Amino acid sequence: MDILWSPWRYRYVSEGVKTEGCIFCQKAADDPARDRENLILHRGRHNLVLLNLFPYTTGHTMIAPYAHLAAFADLDGETMQEMMELAQRLHNALEMTYHPEGYNLGMNLGRCAGAGVADHLHLHVLPRWTGDTSFMTVIGETRVEPEDLPSTYDKLVGFFPR
Ligand SMILES: [Zn+2]
Repeated sequence: MDILWSPWRYRYVSEGVKTEGCIFCQKAADDPARDRENLILHRGRHNLVLLNLFPYTTGHTMIAPYAHLAAFADLDGETMQEMMELAQRLHNALEMTYHPEGYNLGMNLGRCAGAGVADHLHLHVLPRWTGDTSFMTVIGETRVEPEDLPSTYDKLVGFFPR
């Protein structure tokens, strides 16, 4: 079994994220002048593109609709189409920037499926490298952290010109 192992996420799992309401809705509603601080790479017509605050791997990004929806069935066609177009643009940006060996694209729907924010669905775009499950780094206590988020932001934001 191949488990993606990110010990620093325990901070997220065990302490929780202390925010009022929904993190995606909050970020979307915030002043676009604070997009860098909010790690928002791009504001589409229907979706937000942003970095994951607790990345599994370097370049772990997400696409979330502006609509606060939990149910996949409630996503409308235009939003889904833009979501996939943005996923393709992100893929291109990550390809050019990090040259990963593979990707996971997916939604975790429901807490039991691993959704951190279960009531506002979002698409993860996750670059993958052979060995990034990092089991050895846990055993060896030499944890390899992903790149710091401002660096990732600066590398990717140029692919989404304002
Ligand atoms: Zn929301």
